[in-house]
Amino acid sequence: MSANDVSAAHRDPHGIALYHAHVYYDPGKTRGLAAQLRERVAAQFPPAKPGRWHDELVGPHTQSMYQIEFPAAMLASFVPWLMLNRDGLTVLLHPETGDDYLDHTAHAAWFGAVLPLRVEVLQKRSAVPASRGGP
Ligand code: ZN
Repeated sequence: MSANDVSAAHRDPHGIALYHAHVYYDPGKTRGLAAQLRERVAAQFPPAKPGRWHDELVGPHTQSMYQIEFPAAMLASFVPWLMLNRDGLTVLLHPETGDDYLDHTAHAAWFGAVLPLRVEVLQKRSAVPASRGGP
């Protein structure tokens, strides 16, 4: 991260329309718990959209997971519910600001544990006039 990333920290959150909750599980041990959680979310939070199961690792994730996309209007009701009902599963909560890199790092909140991520695969916001050079 460059100094520019840090100085851009004061941002208006009102532009955030969507959040993701990534629910991690172990296919051999906790897939059942993850399935129960998914069903409860679907039943109690209809606006939430559970994504596909990813037993195989995908994107920056280093454990199996599925994501739940939900609208910002659901944040105040869903997040406390998730805190109380995640059944020991690790969850990554992040906003969708258009910068995948910051959303999964500086903007992220973890429940239960902080898992390593392969951040090198994440796209930084292309609209920001990036300081050139440097890997
Ligand atoms: Zn996500």
